[in-house]
Amino acid sequence: MNQYISKVIDDHREELITLAENIWSHPEMGWKETKAAEWTAEVLRNNGFETEVGAYNMPTCIRAVFGSGHPVVGFCAEYDCLPGLSQEVCTYQKPVIPNGDGHGCGHNLLGAGCLGACIGLKEALIKEGREGTVIFYGCPAEEQLLGKGIMAKRGAFKECDFTIAWHPSTISGDTLGSHTGVEGLTVEFFGKTAHAAGAPYLGRSALDALQIMNIGVEFLREHVTSDVRMHYIITDGGLAPNIVPDHAQAKYFVRALSRKATVDAYERVCKCAEGAAIMTDTRVKVTRLGGLYPTLQNTVIAEAVQEARREIPVNEYTEEELAFADEMNQTQPSYVKDKTIPLRYQDEPLSNESIYGSTDYGDVEYICPGFQVNECTAPSLSPGHSWMMTASSGHSIGMKGMLRAAKIQALAAYKMMADPDRLQKAIDEFKESLNGEEYICPIDDSIPDPYQ
Ligand SMILES: [Zn+2]
Repeated sequence: MNQYISKVIDDHREELITLAENIWSHPEMGWKETKAAEWTAEVLRNNGFETEVGAYNMPTCIRAVFGSGHPVVGFCAEYDCLPGLSQEVCTYQKPVIPNGDGHGCGHNLLGAGCLGACIGLKEALIKEGREGTVIFYGCPAEEQLLGKGIMAKRGAFKECDFTIAWHPSTISGDTLGSHTGVEGLTVEFFGKTAHAAGAPYLGRSALDALQIMNIGVEFLREHVTSDVRMHYIITDGGLAPNIVPDHAQAKYFVRALSRKATVDAYERVCKCAEGAAIMTDTRVKVTRLGGLYPTLQNTVIAEAVQEARREIPVNEYTEEELAFADEMNQTQPSYVKDKTIPLRYQDEPLSNESIYGSTDYGDVEYICPGFQVNECTAPSLSPGHSWMMTASSGHSIGMKGMLRAAKIQALAAYKMMADPDRLQKAIDEFKESLNGEEYICPIDDSIPDPYQ
């Protein structure tokens, strides 16, 4: 089956690469991925998927289905970009548009790679005359960390027996470790303005409150578990030094490797805000921005993915591609001449390493068993969310990684669908690992509709 799936995906090579290149050339930010959704839907329709754009009442969301009955597998695609990461396909930093948007997380590859997997799996099911349903979810705004949560709130994913996702990466290798979950918040303080030199005693500084809150959070770091991350920016610190600021605002992200630790840390950060308001005789307003779950990687699906890795040959790269990657790596301080591997495209063993960044795929993995695959699409020293990622996501290095990721996902999903015992084991493990914990969608009614 590995050869058949590989051939099907290779036969769709041009279609998939064109889609990935078009999305790369027209980067669209989360909630605004109109063209990306339209182009992706067109390829889905051309390949026999019943396709809905605007699914779950989200204009840039896609739900596309092939087949019927169980097992049901969902593939989670993304196609949004990042601000400020506009970049040409070259080995040094050179934006197409200064400060423009760009695919610095490779989501142009991510969506097209999932689509390739769906086509490969569909053909495999047809060839073997197997029952089953393949669902492509085009998930908006991953970078805003809210897209899949909102989809989940509106009923997505629970129809699946399992899901698979992938992410462009600097390595070809997967982890059973978690990504962190997140809670986001905006904190605003309201004080009283006054002349900062003439009558400061009349003022109540909102900026003082904000700084005291931030100091509180710095002290809090010592008394949380080591997986907790708390970071903030000040988005309003007043207008002029000689005016006591009556308004100050910060934006916070709180993360941890369990949902419970994330919520605990969030609540304690809120207490720092309340305490600072009391100390400064100001008023505080906390606006929750939403949240997401940590990931919960399923070891049974992981095993199917590792088998698929062994059966799908690793990519071959030309001298030019390796030289391109090496030249790009040279821009990074950790580069060591003749030692730094240009591309880590060889498969690496399954690890247990946790990842402190976050993905909204975690929510999906708390709804049904799931696994996220990583495939090499960028030079070994590329930082996440960087111009290097943008450049390689528009290069043949990225396209090759995307096609192999499509094959691995399709084959792993096929292995799960063709073996009911295996699928049952994945479902049993999922239930066990929840340990009685129930998925409570972190998107509550206070979170405004992002499309409004
Ligand atoms: Zn990403």
